[in-house]
Amino acid sequence: MTDVVADLTAEFRLLPLSRPWGPDRTDLRLIVTEVRTASGATGTGFSWTPTIGGTAVLAMLTDDIRPALLGRSADPAPVWDALWAYLREAGGGGITTIALSGVDIALWDLRARAAGLSLVDLIGRRRDSVEAYGSGINRHYPVEALVEQAERWVAAGFGAVKVKIGRPDLAEDVARVAAVRAVIGPRRRLMLDANQRWDLPAALRAVRALDRFEPYWLEEPLPADDLAAYARLAAATTVPIAQGESLYTAGQFQAAAAGVTVLQPNVVRVGGITPFLRIAELGRLAGVPVAPHLLPDLSGQLALCLPGVTMVEDVEDASFAALGALTRPSGVEVKAGRLTADTGPGHGLAFGTGHTDRGTEWAD
Ligand code: MG
Repeated sequence: MTDVVADLTAEFRLLPLSRPWGPDRTDLRLIVTEVRTASGATGTGFSWTPTIGGTAVLAMLTDDIRPALLGRSADPAPVWDALWAYLREAGGGGITTIALSGVDIALWDLRARAAGLSLVDLIGRRRDSVEAYGSGINRHYPVEALVEQAERWVAAGFGAVKVKIGRPDLAEDVARVAAVRAVIGPRRRLMLDANQRWDLPAALRAVRALDRFEPYWLEEPLPADDLAAYARLAAATTVPIAQGESLYTAGQFQAAAAGVTVLQPNVVRVGGITPFLRIAELGRLAGVPVAPHLLPDLSGQLALCLPGVTMVEDVEDASFAALGALTRPSGVEVKAGRLTADTGPGHGLAFGTGHTDRGTEWAD
């Protein structure tokens, strides 16, 4: 008989950032979950939001997901489909899928641990290491600080780096990108991320001004759901266009695949590992590479299993390991621009059990 889910717990954590993502973005929200089955098997999962929504995610897990989950067979894909159908009255993506990831990641961890396999080997390892690129939430940095960050990436051995653009004045973007290109030289790849700050005319002006710095890709130049504008931009430039961190459903990714060169699902925002792998397959069928957004502690493990070329984003000092959220090393490491994962059974992520108060600083 299949093992059934007997309990789900969820706890809120606030993770202070040692390098704030903006004047009012000084910490991240993490909701740590645990699933327990009738036979006593356990798995750890998490939901995450950078700025807002953390307490809403916690409430959805405890008030709505928990009663709908208990008693179900502990199989990730059937559970995901049933819970998404149940939750979509509150929205097909967003708080619902972010909360659902807490269950899905825990069920995958549980299954891998029960099988005595690492998550990577359970899914199917395709490579022993994957390229990681240096990334920073640095739009608010003075240019001197941006240059220093680029120098740290070069010293750390990254072969590719990503910086934020989309300042109010395009001339500022051009000067900042020129300064970073001068630091990293002509051979390292340089990605640019506008975080949806432009409309189509502004994006067209920006690609004309920035093309000479040979961007490896231009990320989120436009609002994520304006797929018609993405198609028109892609038709007007040879600069590869990337997006996906602000999309939530496989249907959105399928529609977006036609207008971009790189798809960037965030494993938590799409609802966990089950939908992430479906989106990766969708990218493979569409011939569009998938490069996971943020969360390298887990995204890096998934990237080791992805078909085709991929890269993992390593935002400076923002991994769970760097934030001090883990009680022991996970086995995921980034060295000289390559990520490896030697986790033991499951995904290897053991979160501290310290503070559970909403808004209380993390300390363990
Ligand atoms: Mg981005």
